[in-house]
Amino acid sequence: MMQDYKIIWANCLRIIKENLGPDNEQVYKTWFEPIVPIQLEDNVLTIRVPSQFFYEWLEEHFLDLLKKTIRLQLGPNGMLKYSILMDTSIDETPITTSLPSSGKQATYNRPKDVPMVLNGDDHTIANPFVIPGLQKLKINSQLNGNYTLENFVEGSCNQLARSAGYAVAENPGRTAFNPLLLHGGVGLGKTHLAHAIGIKTKELHPESIVLYVTSEQFLQQYVNAVRNKNTNDFVHFYELIDILILDDIQFWASKGPHTQETFFHIFNYLHQQNKQIIITSDKAPSELGSLEPRLLSRLKWGLSADLGVPDVETRKAILKQKLSNDGIEMPEDVIEYIAYNINTNVRELEGALISLIAQSSLNHKKITIDLAKQMIDKFVKSTTREITIDYIQKVVCDYFKLPVDSIQSPTRKREIVQARQLTMYFAKKMTKSSLAIIGMQCGNKDHATVLHACKTVANLNETDKQFHFWVDELEKKIKG
Ligand code: ADP
Ligand code: MG
Repeated sequence: MMQDYKIIWANCLRIIKENLGPDNEQVYKTWFEPIVPIQLEDNVLTIRVPSQFFYEWLEEHFLDLLKKTIRLQLGPNGMLKYSILMDTSIDETPITTSLPSSGKQATYNRPKDVPMVLNGDDHTIANPFVIPGLQKLKINSQLNGNYTLENFVEGSCNQLARSAGYAVAENPGRTAFNPLLLHGGVGLGKTHLAHAIGIKTKELHPESIVLYVTSEQFLQQYVNAVRNKNTNDFVHFYELIDILILDDIQFWASKGPHTQETFFHIFNYLHQQNKQIIITSDKAPSELGSLEPRLLSRLKWGLSADLGVPDVETRKAILKQKLSNDGIEMPEDVIEYIAYNINTNVRELEGALISLIAQSSLNHKKITIDLAKQMIDKFVKSTTREITIDYIQKVVCDYFKLPVDSIQSPTRKREIVQARQLTMYFAKKMTKSSLAIIGMQCGNKDHATVLHACKTVANLNETDKQFHFWVDELEKKIKG
């Protein structure tokens, strides 16, 4: 008699396996093989499941199958009782559910110490007994609603990544882009695009479970899981995800070998189930040498889409989009000025815009090109060593011992005209600014004046020894 429950459960497994069919062998292995029968008492079969999560999943997806099976084995009054293996220091907490036909309400007390705590408290898992059979697993996707695809301005720098992202959202797990690796320097929109794909996927496939997680969070969760001895729950949790977005995988370089190994297994599992994986990295796969080799090789399975530095037109479009989102108006020339001068990445572009808006509203100043200039001057100096028109002006004026603002004055004094022309010449040569912008910054001249200045300087540089010397010296000074 003692062995009865084992035999009964073995019979149940056989029925379950048959019902699932050969196509679902993996399902069977994942969800039924780990179950351990514990006892049979008064027609109640107790089985032990590895986690809360596991139990909820069984109830959600296999309730009918379990009911039928138990009925077949134990008759119409048969019941199933789950026991969840908690932390080894805690006793097993049995959860009783009325299966299949007693009609009694199930009693279910969520254990205080639910093992499924993922680094914080924002992962809520629906209590499966609230609406038996209908409830959906609720996971906080951690998606930032501001980072939509609609807000992600398209340019040649991001076209491939953006359209691959769209394809993935339309058909998660079913394109050749699995995994989709978004790669690009800091501040170029990897995180934004990753969120956007997640949001779009949810929009197009509301049933899908999307999870955004940074590599740092993942590592921390894993470490906690190890500490709390519930790595199985951790893994099971991740294996439930349909679209897994892992941000900044380069964070793992040369750290967390076990985390990487665990992720490797989760990756394989999800990939095999045609679940979508999206990974971002600010290094190309070839530069991620310190990542676990097997994991690295997986990254190469899908598509690696690059995000580049946006060109000036795209930068303008991004600024305009941010402004219209915030309902702020800004003169076109100011937008242009910022777009031309901040050419490192989108984050700095946004930073400059925000500082300018803050400056103007804090000091009740109108947003003008002058204010933009002052602000960007500070901004650029503190963030990059980019050569700007202002910087060139300063070097030229210092060299000729002229006040910096003399170039702005309408004077026709020869030495000032010369300094202005040299500034224009170097600005054309050493910055990406347009002739119009250069003119604007050198005393409000038009582009024809700038063009003329450039030709004049080039001529003198070839014919006039003294002038040639100045040009040489200045170029060295500007380059630093
Ligand atoms: P990364 O993750 O590559 O370091 P982010 O995704 O955090 O960069 O982007 C930095 C900022 O720039 C974010 O605020 C993001 O919204 C913005 N951004 C980047 N690319 C674009 C784009 N193409 N259109 C609109 N905003 C963008
Ligand atoms: Mg990022």
